[in-house]
Formats: sequence, structure tokens, C-alpha cells
Amino acid sequence: MSTGKRSFNSHTGEGRSAPHIAIGLAPTEMFASATNEALPRFGRRWYKVSRDLTPKASPLRSDFEIGGHKVPAGQRALVDLHVSKLSNHTPVTLPVHVLHGPRPGPAMFISAAIHGDELNGVEIIRRVLRTLQPGNISGTLLAIPVVNAYGFIGRSRYLPDRRDLNRSFPGSGTGSLAARLANLFLKEVVRRCQVGIDLHTAAVHRVNLPQIRADFARRPRCRELAEAFGAPVVLESPERAGSLRRAARDSGVDVLVYEGGEGLRFDEFAIKAGVDGIAGVMLKTGMLELPDGIELNPSDEMRRPVFANASKWVRAPDGGVFRSVKRIGNAVSEDEPIGVVSNPYEGSEIQVRSPRRGIIVGATTLPIVNMGDALFHIAWADEHARPVISRDADRSAEPLEDKGADAEPEAVMDEDEII
Ligand SMILES: [Zn+2]
Repeated sequence: MSTGKRSFNSHTGEGRSAPHIAIGLAPTEMFASATNEALPRFGRRWYKVSRDLTPKASPLRSDFEIGGHKVPAGQRALVDLHVSKLSNHTPVTLPVHVLHGPRPGPAMFISAAIHGDELNGVEIIRRVLRTLQPGNISGTLLAIPVVNAYGFIGRSRYLPDRRDLNRSFPGSGTGSLAARLANLFLKEVVRRCQVGIDLHTAAVHRVNLPQIRADFARRPRCRELAEAFGAPVVLESPERAGSLRRAARDSGVDVLVYEGGEGLRFDEFAIKAGVDGIAGVMLKTGMLELPDGIELNPSDEMRRPVFANASKWVRAPDGGVFRSVKRIGNAVSEDEPIGVVSNPYEGSEIQVRSPRRGIIVGATTLPIVNMGDALFHIAWADEHARPVISRDADRSAEPLEDKGADAEPEAVMDEDEII
């Protein structure tokens, strides 16, 4: 292993103003057999560092214990936590990557596929794990690429018992399958950490602009962590009952929910934003450090997310075929046309307009709509509005067209509830 302080930047070269940089990249020799190409590029925040700091490990740094396994400082391990058996005797586990850094620091988890059909997070974690090695970390990183193995295999958001895992926290060791899996994840992973990032996407046939959702009122530190993540939008939203975020807060853990992309699809923009964001949070918490003599690109410092505390879904005024004239990330003004619902058997068209000035943070990707289907999710910052209030699914399904522009914001699709 290399122990020198050499750092390099093979992608950016000299004289380029916006270097793409990587932190904690594994030594080149790890990749030498896999590819002859230049080292992978992980986004704008990651400085490439070939040093391995394992020799500096404190002899007093204790092992990290999980699921009956001990991971020594400076080591990584893949620990299988037993969940159950399938009906055909196939064991089901909750595999957890443990990267136990040689130096003290916070413990952080990154999790994906709590909803089994949300795949961007799986790829985000793969890239993060490919980049990091424990020697580069202060503290401990727990990475769980697939929490809901059942849904992942079945390409479903849910568990086989048709429960939503993200409505089943804190769960219990003797409850339903969802309750037991939630409880295992909470006890073995979440409660071992001080910080967590839970990776989600929109539901199938919907797409989300990369965004962080957090509750700043109850977890003030989440604001600075969300800023460090650097997604285009931060949407302040209280937790839903039964969600991981809520259970984590009850345990004193600061959790950011990252939303980006679409169910059952990879979205490169959302994947890169997620990898960058995890790097940003690890820098902020001190789990990663910049190499000597290297500072964050000033343009990164200047890139602040848009903070929003209110949002509303615009719904289809009638059934038909929907043509959108806007995309996620677009800014819209009040009453601006954003789409048209037409019908192949009639000549009439109904224009859909934005009820507010804001930014489109979510949208349908399906042109076939029924009356009341959610078309666009528009978020805005409102000093006078209280943060988006979570409501139960029945209330959130009320058509918005019945409400005036000043009606209370609708419940955000927190953790991408299907509404
Ligand atoms: Zn989700």
C-alpha cells in the first residue's frame, strides 16, 4: 500500500479552472487489473488521493462490532446480518459494508433500496465503496446498498407482505416481516451512527430532481449537512410516521433523505449528485479530509442549494394524454402554462398552469393520465408558510384544483409516497 502523500489529478490536468477531484480513492494498483483507463472520476468534490493512512492507526482504536463480527480499525468487511429464510429455504440477509477507519470520528450510514425498486442509490453506494478505503476515513462508514432485498429481487417498492418498509419503523423483533426488518436495520445500523443518508428515487413513472429532505426544526444540524450535500434543492419537510427518518430522530441520529431520479431506472445526473453529496457530507463531518495544500474549489463553495419549505402537486384536471412543456429543475412563475391535457377523441385541450412561482422538483414521466393524477411537484420558499406538513395518504390525495392558490401546501411526497 502506498503511504506517501502524493496526490494527482489525471483528469483535470493543469490549467483547468474547475477540477473534478476525488477524496480517498483506493490505490491505483487496486484498479490496475480491472482497467487500463485513467482512474475513475467521481465528481466535482472528490480529490484523488492515493495515500493510505492505515499505518497511522491508533493502537487504542477499538474494533467495530456488528452482528457478532469484529472489524479492526483500518479494515473493511462485508457483514451479513441474518433476516430470515425464503419459503424455499434460501437465506435472506441484510449485507452491510463496514469501513472502520483507523482514526476516531463519527459513524455514518448510507442506505439504499429501502424501497426495492429505487435503484439509483444502489449505484451511488457502489461508486462510493469503489472510491473509498478504510484507511482514508476518520470514523466508521456503514454502507447498505440494498435494505429491502425482497423488493429489490421482485422489482417492487414493497415487501412480500405488501407493507412499505419506510412506514414500518421502528418495527419490532416479533412483528410482521416489515417490522422485523425495520427493527433489525434500526438496531444494528442506524443506532450505531450519528449521521445517516437514506437514498431514494421517485416512484415508478415519476422523476425527482436531486433534492435533500430533512426536518431542520427538530434536527438543526441537518441544515448544515444538507448544505454540505449540495443537491440542487433542499426541501424542508417533517417526517412521516413510521419512516426511517422519524425513527432515527427519536434515536438522536441526523438523517438526510436524498431523492433523485426515477424508480427502476438509472439516472446519471442523480447518481453523480448523490456521490458528490455523500463526499460533501463526509468532508463536513470530518470523516474525510482534503489532502495537504488542496482546498475546495471556490465555485463549489458558491454553489448553494435552493432551500424550499413548501410544495404542491399539480394534478391532471381531466383524463387524457398529457404533454409537458417543462422539466424538473425548471423555474416557473404563477399561472405559467406548464402542460396540456388533450384527448385523442375530442378536439378540446385543457391547459395546465403553475399555481405558484417556484421550481419543479418532481414530475410524471407517463403521458397517459387520469383525472387527479399528479403531474408536477412544485416547491418554493415561503417565509410566512410553515414547513410542508405531512398528512396521511387519504388527505394528500385530495385534488388540488379545488383549493385556491393560498391553500395550505399539500403534503410533500416524503420518501416518495405514491399519491
Ligand atoms: Zn423511496
